[in-house]
Amino acid sequence: MSTDCSQAVLPAPLCGEPYLLTPGPLTTSHEVKKAMLRDWGSWDDDFRAMTAQLRRELLALVGPGGEAYDCVPVQGSGTFAVEAMLGSFLPRDGKALVLINGAYGQRIAQTLDYLGRAYAVIDKGDYLPPRGEEVARALEVDPGITHVVVVHCETSSGILNPVREIADTVAAHGRKLLVDSMSAFGAVPLEVGEIAFEAMVSSANKCIEGVPGFGFVIARKSALEEAKGVSSSLSLDVHAQWAHMEKTGQWRFTPPTHVVAAFIEALRQHREEGGVAGRLARYTANRDTLVEGMRGLGFETLLSERWLSPIIVTFFTPADPAFGFADFYARMKAKGFIIYPGKLTVVESFRVGCIGRMDPPVMRKVVAAVAECLAEMGVSSAVPPTIALEERTKLVA
Ligand SMILES: *Cc1c(COP(=O)(O)O)cnc(C)c1O
Repeated sequence: MSTDCSQAVLPAPLCGEPYLLTPGPLTTSHEVKKAMLRDWGSWDDDFRAMTAQLRRELLALVGPGGEAYDCVPVQGSGTFAVEAMLGSFLPRDGKALVLINGAYGQRIAQTLDYLGRAYAVIDKGDYLPPRGEEVARALEVDPGITHVVVVHCETSSGILNPVREIADTVAAHGRKLLVDSMSAFGAVPLEVGEIAFEAMVSSANKCIEGVPGFGFVIARKSALEEAKGVSSSLSLDVHAQWAHMEKTGQWRFTPPTHVVAAFIEALRQHREEGGVAGRLARYTANRDTLVEGMRGLGFETLLSERWLSPIIVTFFTPADPAFGFADFYARMKAKGFIIYPGKLTVVESFRVGCIGRMDPPVMRKVVAAVAECLAEMGVSSAVPPTIALEERTKLVA
């Protein structure tokens, strides 16, 4: 396995380590990894200062109006933070409307089943986006709905859902919005002046380019106050974590100290790159380089330009019978790139991530590696089967 680091603008992870073209954990910088080479006492002032800095800097990313909000980190993977948000902000007698167009929306509904909270769904299948119109209709027919839950970038297809349109509809109907912005926050703008959410969640190992170990909730202070006594989980009680942090500067239970140290460095690099705008520019350039190169080889994307996120791209699997995903995956890995299987139920696909410490020169190497794999496998054309192209026509601009 070899990764040639010589021509990348950004240094490769470590020579010999494959790039993770996956939506988190992802490829982190050497500096982020290096920040983990010391131990921290969780009660110590130095670590408390890091926690305060992390909360302050994340809050700054939601833009003007952020004073009415606060940031609460939660131990665990992103799903823990989603569950903490749902269990803390959705009152026990409340009802959610869950907008589903992929695995992460489905997971939200599943979490509500576990929590025993009432909910309705709008399920658009594998990837079609939920629209403001249909959300409006659902809210009109069911006055019992108190909250709408939406996934910002549905990572299972890579679609960027129309969160602004949905937020406007939810506000116009006097309901509250909860956002799973796990794979988008830090690279796709989510400013409270534009999108009036009640609470949102993301995690350390996505667009901020930290390592896995915690998620975070950004919520209105009024919502944090109202969440007192709502959660039926001790460890996932966002109000309790917030109140304790406000009072002591500490996490309630053992924090992932090394992960937090790495995240502080990741935030520094995020700032240095130009914040959300800078990161969006690099990820967009990554995606454009990838998509153009792959289309040049004959591949087709599931989504049209309007819906493609700068986070992860779904490509249809070639129709050529010489193509097999397991074989392709192993060959890509041997060339230094870890890709991701697809999640569509009707057509075969695979995904390539655009996030992490990578830039367009790296993405050009990804495309070159794909071309080599096709040649090695004896695949003469990357064109997908007609059923894939028919599927795609379901998505109108
Ligand atoms: C990554 C991700 C999550 C959380 O996944 P974990 O594996 O628990 O970190 C949730 N929602 C979306 C949209 C994601 O991309």
